[in-house]
Amino acid sequence: MELLNHIDGRWVPSTGEGMTDVNPSDVTDVLGEYGAATEDVAQSAVAAAAAAFPAWSQSSVQQRFDVLDRAGSLILERRQELGRLLAREEGKTVGEATAEATRAGQIFKFFAGEALRGGGELLPSVREGLDVEILRRPVGVIALITPWNFPIAIPAWKVAPALAFGNTVVLKPAELVPACAVELVRILEESGLPSGVLNLVLGSGAVVGDALVRSPSVSAVSFTGSDVTGRGVAAACAAAGKRVQVEMGGKNPLVVLDDADLTVAVEAAVNGAFFSTGQRCTASSRLIVTAGIHDRFVDAVQRRLATLTIGHALEAATDIGPVVDRRQLDKDLEYLVTAAQEGGEVLGGDRVDRPTDGFFMSPALVLSTTNEMRINQEEVFGPVASVIRVENYDEALTVANDTRFGLSAGICSTSLAAVTHFKRHAEAGMVMVNAPTAGVDYHVPFGGSKASSYGPREQGSYAREFFTTVKTVYVNPGQIDQQSP
Ligand code: NAD
Repeated sequence: MELLNHIDGRWVPSTGEGMTDVNPSDVTDVLGEYGAATEDVAQSAVAAAAAAFPAWSQSSVQQRFDVLDRAGSLILERRQELGRLLAREEGKTVGEATAEATRAGQIFKFFAGEALRGGGELLPSVREGLDVEILRRPVGVIALITPWNFPIAIPAWKVAPALAFGNTVVLKPAELVPACAVELVRILEESGLPSGVLNLVLGSGAVVGDALVRSPSVSAVSFTGSDVTGRGVAAACAAAGKRVQVEMGGKNPLVVLDDADLTVAVEAAVNGAFFSTGQRCTASSRLIVTAGIHDRFVDAVQRRLATLTIGHALEAATDIGPVVDRRQLDKDLEYLVTAAQEGGEVLGGDRVDRPTDGFFMSPALVLSTTNEMRINQEEVFGPVASVIRVENYDEALTVANDTRFGLSAGICSTSLAAVTHFKRHAEAGMVMVNAPTAGVDYHVPFGGSKASSYGPREQGSYAREFFTTVKTVYVNPGQIDQQSP
């Protein structure tokens, strides 16, 4: 199947370098092929979004509600089919993928409501006789650049608020997962979105991503991806005076204290570190464990890992699907070699043979690590977690915060004092108590601190900060002829 760009309501091919969309559970299964979009294609997508902006930004909130609500319903009706597509394209298990599709549907429903709750305030002025209106206005054409690890949820949580608040969009999904983005755009088209309001370009970040970031007609960029790329995008936007929102990586700590419930801590660690093949920005990649529970915790995690089935993402029995592609698999395995060279004891982390030719590896637990090691400072983004043994809570908190990242941080403990202190002092945008570091609801703000995020939060009612601009209006009502038409 040929995967196409979507520009001004038409599905159009591109003549750039040929790209193949392959199932990471079985490389003989090809989902589609496409020619990478060229800079010209990106510019025509921006032009279409700019032409559609005046009408969409003036559209009624009822129209926006209807489109987004319908899209949410269609996604939820088709969640099983979308889940299978997503599992085939990205490699998370079909259960995880169906849950992701469900979340995308819920996001559209939530932002349908946000269109109605558009916002704005009316305040009295300190000057006699004046009122002050604070209006929320659409920003303009917004470029949305997304990573491969949540191929439908991340496009959904950027597209839905952008449209709800009257902006027009060019979406550029990651090169590895174009098919999910194509389906999402089809659904919005079927939901009655006017032509040109949402445009899709399939291609490389260096060519079309960069062209979108630099286009003078793009007013804002919302990016999710690696920190190296994200920092470049933020710098380019700042230089051009564009609004920018950048969500990047993590090196998320899960602290396990002596007084933790062992079963809860093991489930939080295994789920947080290894589910979705560890390919989550919020994955618990550093397990920081106090001495009194360390050996029992490590034993229990190993026993739990031994129960997990690694295999084809579409097989119902699979707990851990493949790594997304060969490049990421090689990177994961290289990090384990480095960890061993630096003194870590690597358990698991082996290539696994399955009946199909996919990028399978067993979960890796790296013991006896210190926080200075590369495995604890750099984001691996695979089914890899390391254990850092510490003496007490104070040392655990110091180690947890000793990272340039600050996305999510977790603690497993039954001590109110420790939990309360951790909530206040963990340097992270999200804190989880007796729960995995990964997994955030669709109606609450999502984002981090330090090198993990830059710009306003995503999701929930906080999304309004990025996707609207504020206009302050003074009105002297006494001078207005109330009888005039
Ligand atoms: P990536 O940075 O390689 O790519 C992300 C997107 O940016 C892709 O669409 C890519 O084509 C595009 N891109 C690449 N170069 C570009 C350029 N010069 N200009 C503009 N766009 C460009 O990231 P990835 O490998 O797709 O995703 C994995 C990363 O995403 C991990 O670091 C992970 O932590 C992060 N992530 C963060 C969050 C979050 O919300 N904080 C969520 C999911 C993933």
